[in-house]
Amino acid sequence: MNPYRVWADIDLDALTHNLAVIRRRAGAGVRIMLVVKADAYGHGAVAIAHHAVRCGVAALGVGSSAEALELRNSGLSLPILVLGTIIDDEAVDCLRNGVHLALHSSDRRAMLQSLAKSLGVRAKIHLNIDTGMGRLGVLPHRALDLLREVHEASHLELAGVMTHISAAEGADAASTHEQQRLFEGVLREARAQRMLGGWIHMANSAAVFTDLRPRYDTVRPGISAYGVLPTDMPGSDELRPAMSLLSQVVFLKDIPRGYAVGYSSTWRAEQATRIATLPVGYNDGVPWRLGNKGEVIVRGVRAPVVGRVSMDYTTIDVGHIPGVSVGDVVTLIGSAGHESISSEELARKAGTIAYEITCNVGKRVRRTYRGGTNVLIPAQEPRTLPGVPHFDFYSADDPAGVRRRL
Ligand SMILES: *Cc1c(COP(=O)(O)O)cnc(C)c1O
Repeated sequence: MNPYRVWADIDLDALTHNLAVIRRRAGAGVRIMLVVKADAYGHGAVAIAHHAVRCGVAALGVGSSAEALELRNSGLSLPILVLGTIIDDEAVDCLRNGVHLALHSSDRRAMLQSLAKSLGVRAKIHLNIDTGMGRLGVLPHRALDLLREVHEASHLELAGVMTHISAAEGADAASTHEQQRLFEGVLREARAQRMLGGWIHMANSAAVFTDLRPRYDTVRPGISAYGVLPTDMPGSDELRPAMSLLSQVVFLKDIPRGYAVGYSSTWRAEQATRIATLPVGYNDGVPWRLGNKGEVIVRGVRAPVVGRVSMDYTTIDVGHIPGVSVGDVVTLIGSAGHESISSEELARKAGTIAYEITCNVGKRVRRTYRGGTNVLIPAQEPRTLPGVPHFDFYSADDPAGVRRRL
């Protein structure tokens, strides 16, 4: 018997495997900052982060100070970066806990400097350059000035220089090359003025899987570590989805021809059939738009979602599947028998992206973990950051991408 109405089964060995794939693609010596925002895309940030650390990730990327503190409080001491921005009220918690912050403006620089000074700490700053995302970050022509301000601030430490790619196709998009050209321009100038320091990072999953060159010394994959790629791109067969979403049949009912199922009676039985009710609804992450569109797997066979998905329940037609019983495990995402349903398939049918599917797995869905005893990849050697920038990075002019030390 299964004790849960609905559960997300997380395969930590899949995470290990995916991190190994990412490591191989990123290249030897390139650090992985694993993005674990949104509760690790719905997979459970604390468990994911602890296992990822055992697999050698060098840092974690989060979405807010609360996410950073949850990880700190769970005993993790590695660098944690709030990738986007904090609001002012989050600053104290971040600085007290040594959380790295992305920097976007002079105003924020001044605020962080004075706060860090009053707390007696050095704030770790990643300068975020907006090369085309148009959201956060300082525009390239202002980047050098802001960088200088960071260097001149007594209580700020430059821990990184970053930019973020807007195209879901990664290096396959022309816009990515333009973004990289602008980023390179800032890096070159910063290097010339001996102001470059910390980790240099640009690549998200799409960039890692489309061979963005150069990749710099750190990559920031998120979704690929969970076994999913942002768009249909080569490499998905190398990855293993880490999450399965499972429920069980809670009720069976034989209905006559013409009988309606669900809110607004959007579906009627064309013939007498058997309806199974599942105790999982849109609050748990089954998209409402999968009403009359989605499929699940029962006893190794696909069964269609019939009627609307409701908040707590989903109804499926199992008239064609012999022997379905109350208590049968139902796979909403994952593999069973010869069938498998991916988060990408759900996303396609619901008119959304796979990111939203896993992130929306609700908080009453129990996360269960398996695997994780094997840590196949050697831990990344810890490195100390040079106080003064003294090394070069992969250069765009160097197609072999060989790291050269100056
Ligand atoms: C979310 C995020 C990532 C990871 O993106 P994926 O597409 O999931 O690999 C990387 N960098 C930043 C700044 C992000 O916000």
